[in-house]
Amino acid sequence: MSELREYFPYDELRPHQEEFIALVDSAVRRGENAIIEAPTGFGKTVSVLAGVLPYAKSMGYKVLYLARTHKQMDRVIEELKAINGKSPVSGVEMRSRKELCLHKYLLEFTTDAYTAMVVCKNLRKMGKCVYFENEKKKKSEFEEVVKLFLQEPSFPSEILEYAKLLELCPYDIVRQAAFKSDVIVASYLYMLSPTIRENFMTYLDLDYSDLIVIFDEAHNLPDQAISALSDRLSIHTVNRAISEADEYNEHEIANFLSVFGRGLELLYSDKLREREVHEVPLSPEVIFSHVVSVLGIDGRYLLRFLNDMVAVGDSIREDRIEKGKPPRSYVGRVGEFLLNWISVADREDYLFLLSREKGLSLELVALDPSRAIEWVGKVQSAIFMSGTLTPLEAFRDVMGVERAKLKKFPRMVKRENAQVLVAKDVSTRGDERSIELYRRMVEYIVEAVKLIPKNVGVFAASYEVLQGLLSANLQVRIEETGKAVFVEKQGVSSAENDLMVAQFKAHAKGNGAVLLGVMGGRNSEGQDYSGDEMNGVILVGIPYARPTPRVQAQIRYFEKKFSGKGRYYGYYLPAHRKLVQAAGRVHRSEEERGSIVILDYRVLWRSVRKDLPDWMKESMKAVDLGRMRLYLRRFWGESSSGAQ
Ligand code: SF4
Repeated sequence: MSELREYFPYDELRPHQEEFIALVDSAVRRGENAIIEAPTGFGKTVSVLAGVLPYAKSMGYKVLYLARTHKQMDRVIEELKAINGKSPVSGVEMRSRKELCLHKYLLEFTTDAYTAMVVCKNLRKMGKCVYFENEKKKKSEFEEVVKLFLQEPSFPSEILEYAKLLELCPYDIVRQAAFKSDVIVASYLYMLSPTIRENFMTYLDLDYSDLIVIFDEAHNLPDQAISALSDRLSIHTVNRAISEADEYNEHEIANFLSVFGRGLELLYSDKLREREVHEVPLSPEVIFSHVVSVLGIDGRYLLRFLNDMVAVGDSIREDRIEKGKPPRSYVGRVGEFLLNWISVADREDYLFLLSREKGLSLELVALDPSRAIEWVGKVQSAIFMSGTLTPLEAFRDVMGVERAKLKKFPRMVKRENAQVLVAKDVSTRGDERSIELYRRMVEYIVEAVKLIPKNVGVFAASYEVLQGLLSANLQVRIEETGKAVFVEKQGVSSAENDLMVAQFKAHAKGNGAVLLGVMGGRNSEGQDYSGDEMNGVILVGIPYARPTPRVQAQIRYFEKKFSGKGRYYGYYLPAHRKLVQAAGRVHRSEEERGSIVILDYRVLWRSVRKDLPDWMKESMKAVDLGRMRLYLRRFWGESSSGAQ
C-alpha cells in the first residue's frame, strides 16, 4: 500500500479509500476501464488521482480529468495542490477561451466555446490580438510563466492574474502548460461533441492512446452525450438567414432559403397545425422536397449549395469581426445544420423531428449516447465514477463501455441519520391526477415542511405536477408555516437561478425556506446544499417522461440494441436516476441528518426499488399522513426548530 499512498496527500484514509485506490491502480495498469459508484463525502477525487498517478507518471500517460461544473474542476486543482505538497505533480484546468481570454471583443460578443474558438482564430489571423502578438515579443516571460504553472497546479483565476500583468494570452499559457503537465482538467463537454473534441485533441496535441481518462459525476453522461450529439434549427433562424443573405447580396442563397422556409411551413400545416401533439417524426429527405420541386435541383447540387452556405457564413463572420459586430452568421448556421442532417440521414441512431415546443423547428435527436464516447476504446484506461450509477451494468451497456470493472462502495450516511418515508396512498400516475390528488399531496408537503427543521426542497415529477400543486394552494399553505417559498422557473439564466438558490440557502440561518422545483432540474441535481440548507426533500411522483415520439424512438432503439431492455433503459431507468439524484441533495456528509419523503406509492414496488441505492432501500418505510407525522417527529425530536 505504501506505493499507492505516494500520491495520497492526507494522513488518514477514509473507510474504503484504500480499496478504491487499489482498484483504480489495477485497472489502469491492465488497460481496463472501471465504473465505480461511491457516495458523497467518500473523497472520490483524491482517491482516483492517487489511483491513476503512480502508473500514469511512471509510464508517461497523460491524465485527462473530465468534470461537469467549474466548481468540480476547481476541486481537482485543489487536490492536485495538496498532492503536489507531497509528491510532485503538475496539472492545469482547461477552460474555454470565453473564460481564458483577455480580448474585449471576444469577451463581449461570444456566448459559447465554439464561437469563441472561431473568433480567436480570426483575431489571430488578422493580427488583431495584442496578447497573442506579445507571445513573440515577450518570449522569455511567456516561457517563464508556463514553467511556473508547471511547478504548481493553479486555478484559472491565478493564471488570468499573471496573464493580465504580463499582457499575454491566458489560454495559450494554459495550453502550453497542458502540453507538459501530468493532469489536464476539463469540462467533459469538450470530449462529447465530435467537432469540439477533434479541435481540443488537435489543439493540445493529444493522442488517444496516451490518455487515462476520468469521468467525474458520470451519471450525467447519457443525457449530456445525447444533447452533444443532437441539434435544433428554428424557422426563426431560417428567416434571419434570409435577411442576412439579402444584406450580403447573396440572392441565390436568400431565394433558396425562402423556398426552404416555405417548405417547412407547408410541412407544419400538413403534419402539426391541426393536431394535439408538439412534435412529429419526419423522414429526413422530406424537408427538401419543396426546394427540389420548386427549384428543380438534385442531391449533388444541394450538397454543393449547402457547402457554399457554410463558406459564405465563414466570410460573414470574418466581416462582422472586422466591423466589431457579434461574430454570428445565420446563413452559416443553417448550412451547418442541414449538412449535419444529411450526413446522418440514413442512420438508425438518429430521429428527425418537426417540433413546435420552442417555436417551429427541425430537430435532430441522437438516440445512442455511446456514440459520443466511442473513442474510449482507444485510450489506455477510463474511469467512470459517481454517487449514483446503480445499476452499474445498465450504465455500462448504455454508454457502451467495454472491458470494465464494476464496483459499488457502500454509503457513508450513517443509518440513524437517514429516513426515507414513502406515502402509500398517492401517486402522480396519469389517470390519478386531479385537483383532489394535489390537495392530498399538499397536506403531506405542508405537514412535512412544518416538522423538518429549516430548509426543505420539494421536487416534483414535472412542471405540470408542480403547477398542479401550486393550483392546490401549495405556496400559500407553506407561507402560513412561516417559511419563505422559492419557486424554480423554467428558462431563467443560470445567474438568476444561482441568485435565487443563494437566497434560499441563506434562510437556513433563520426560520428556514422551501425550494419548489422539479426532478432532473438544475436545483435537484448538481447543486450542493450543506447542513441546514436542505434538511429534507419531498419528492412528488416519479419523473417518467411523457410518451413523446422521441421517448418512443429511444425505447425502440434500445430495444433493438438490448433485446428485452428497451423500455427499462429508455424510460424507467432515467426517471429512477433522477429520483435518486434529487434524494441525494440531503446528505452531503456522513454526519448530516435528513428526511426524504416520497409521494408516490410506486416507489414501494420491486421494479422501482431495485434501482434505488442500498441506503434508501434500507431506510424506507411506507406511511400514511399520520405515520409520516409520527416518524418525522421521532426523527427530528427536540432538534426540530422549524417555524410551526
Ligand atoms: S489569442 Fe488569447 S487573448 Fe487573443 S483572442 Fe485568442 S484567446 Fe483571446
